Amino acid sequence: MSLHFDLRANPKPRSESERAAVLANPGFGMYFTDHMAVATWTATDGWHDSAIVPYGPFSLDPATAVLHYAQQIFEGLKAYRHADGTIWTFRPDKNAERMSRSARRLALPALPAEDFLSSIEELVAADVAWVPTAPEQSLYLRPFMFATEAFLGVRPAKRVTYCCFASPAGSYFASGLRPVSIWISMLYSRAAPGGTGAAKCGGNYAASLLPQQEALDHGCDQVMFADATEHCYLEELGGMNVYMITTDNELITPELTGTILEGVTRDSILTLAPEFGLTPVERRVSIAELLEGIGSGKVTELFACGTAAVATPIGTLHNEDGSHQVGSGESGETTLALRKRLLDIQYGRAKDTYGWMRRVL
Ligand SMILES: *Cc1c(COP(=O)(O)O)cnc(C)c1O
Repeated sequence: MSLHFDLRANPKPRSESERAAVLANPGFGMYFTDHMAVATWTATDGWHDSAIVPYGPFSLDPATAVLHYAQQIFEGLKAYRHADGTIWTFRPDKNAERMSRSARRLALPALPAEDFLSSIEELVAADVAWVPTAPEQSLYLRPFMFATEAFLGVRPAKRVTYCCFASPAGSYFASGLRPVSIWISMLYSRAAPGGTGAAKCGGNYAASLLPQQEALDHGCDQVMFADATEHCYLEELGGMNVYMITTDNELITPELTGTILEGVTRDSILTLAPEFGLTPVERRVSIAELLEGIGSGKVTELFACGTAAVATPIGTLHNEDGSHQVGSGESGETTLALRKRLLDIQYGRAKDTYGWMRRVL
């Protein structure tokens, strides 16, 4: 039986002028809308108590399992307002599937895809006034699930909370799109074989914070991780997948080995490659190959991709040996074209030839 997310309206929603002030400069992840979707799962009753409720804090027992053992997963996607006022999400079925896979790895209950989708759609319907109208702005949606049983024993919790809230988002890069610099971490790994690298869980992010700090300390924007076993193959950034383009017109991304998060953006770019005369390739890429390719000019462009960043050019790589500039260090032409193609589909400026968009309202 599918869940219903009926609206229990916020009695004190933000005023129109407060909302307008937020939407004038939303930034990223700083402001939240008037409502959130919630549902509870228990081992005895399954999923129940689903609703759209006023946005607000949870009250948690200090023994709540997630606070100790990090049994938690999340998703991230966006709602886009098209020029005709209609509102759409991009491949939300992929997020629903991934959340189920993540849930399995973290021993959490699967939320059926139809319930995931209706939680998002009912939330967006309740807070439709928060979907920005300005170009390149969107309503970021953050579905997540966490263990809420108050019990210190180490086993999967018998009580779990699902929640989805929404946050208006401006352009990810406040000062306009510019190539980012990347630190290749040789000291730390993000994910090991048999671990949780393919699951979207908070613990992976916790483990990436110190390496990210290491990147910042070296004057870089982001950290790039290598495989944990040999420390010689390219994996991904803390929260973005990575691509390179070569003079052979190949669009190459590290293959999914179980330690890489399968991004929806990554998958979409593989599909779009032939439109740009590029052959999509998923294979292992060693850091040595990448650096040699950058040095010889064989690697012409390098970029990171994800829901928030879309496709973002990487201008330079840094490691203990020094810095390696990709091409001229400027934004790659094909990277920008791929980025524009994705945004045009997402914002309804181009025909949705792949059937990726799902109308919410
Ligand atoms: C979410 C995420 C990505 C990007 O996935 P998208 O579905 O494209 O947003 C890449 N790597 C990691 C580690 C992530 O958590």
